[in-house]
Amino acid sequence: MLTLLVTGGAGFIGGNFVHHIIETTDARVVNLDLLTYAGNLDTLADLKDNPRHVFVQGDIADPALVARLLAEYEVDAVVNFAAESHVDRSIDGPAQFVQTNVVGTFNLLDCSRAHWAKRSGAAKDAFRFLHVSTDEVYGSLGPTGLFTESTPYAPNSPYSASKAASDHLVRAWFHTYGLPVLTTNCSNNYGPYQFPEKLIPLMILKAQRGESLPIYGDGGNVRDWLYVIDHCRAILRVLEAGRPGEVYNVGGNSEKTNLEVVDTLCALLDERLPDSPYRPHVDLKTFVKDRPGHDRRYAIDAGKLKRELGWEPAETFESGMRRTVDWFLDNPDWCRRVTDGSYLGERLGGAG
Ligand code: NAD
Repeated sequence: MLTLLVTGGAGFIGGNFVHHIIETTDARVVNLDLLTYAGNLDTLADLKDNPRHVFVQGDIADPALVARLLAEYEVDAVVNFAAESHVDRSIDGPAQFVQTNVVGTFNLLDCSRAHWAKRSGAAKDAFRFLHVSTDEVYGSLGPTGLFTESTPYAPNSPYSASKAASDHLVRAWFHTYGLPVLTTNCSNNYGPYQFPEKLIPLMILKAQRGESLPIYGDGGNVRDWLYVIDHCRAILRVLEAGRPGEVYNVGGNSEKTNLEVVDTLCALLDERLPDSPYRPHVDLKTFVKDRPGHDRRYAIDAGKLKRELGWEPAETFESGMRRTVDWFLDNPDWCRRVTDGSYLGERLGGAG
């Protein structure tokens, strides 16, 4: 049985990934998460008594803790999701982004290198360090073109700059020390368990309550959108079959303006909530002052992942959005506890 050290597994994508691993493989997961405001043990509640899931509350930047976990659980692969991930927060308080995203990733790499160096034979050859990153490291595109794995880095926000720095460290640990690393750069994710400071869950929860739906600028900023389980499938595929030292772009081939995203959500809510007093939900849209340094367009060429590893998204934008709206409407307790802050209670109890 393989053991994965998954960091940030109480967050949005990490939480979905942990469920995906438990459901589709027989691997054991050691889930290291600091439980910042973005970490939510409710997301892991169904894994509380699962012997293949061990939750540890702690910091990826803690060398003694990371070294102990790697050795104690004889970890075969590290999958690094842990990060400060919200662009707006990075503008208000960049220091924590540098600490977690840069110093934290450095510590994971250095501890992993020491752990890997002590292994021998097949266990050493099979070890992997997979770093989960973002397409935001490539900067902003004009109206045409796509980010490929060879697009030069040009990060514009403190968030994307800190992720870019971490990607460079990962690359250096391969070229300098030979650590078998893999990096994935993915476009915007959406789906179950996403913290409602991000566009899609924010809009679903606000629209349900009849609150105005704030859209930055003219709503014309374009993002590529990927359903989170498709991202999890891509990460698992890269972990299993990716070539060490390589970078793989992950995307949904699904470019939408923010306005299109909100209109799609409103139409789905109209359909699901025919008796809502706020129908049509689209009437709730309001335009607010744009975010400083707001990148205009991101778009991803995920052709390498398709050609080399056979991955393609299973969901379209329409089917993924439908699943997402259904999940948020069908999980009112999870939503309520995030919105009223009660998910923050009992943080030290562990989740199994
Ligand atoms: P998230 O904010 O939902 O979750 C981050 C998790 O990391 C939280 O559970 C938090 O408690 C934990 N964490 C933060 N600091 C930590 C630390 N010092 N030590 C241990 N745990 C810590 O983020 P997400 O949206 O799930 O993103 C996960 C990863 O995927 C990030 O690295 C992000 O850059 C990347 N990514 C996200 C998207 C997206 O659309 N959300 C797209 C591409 C890449």
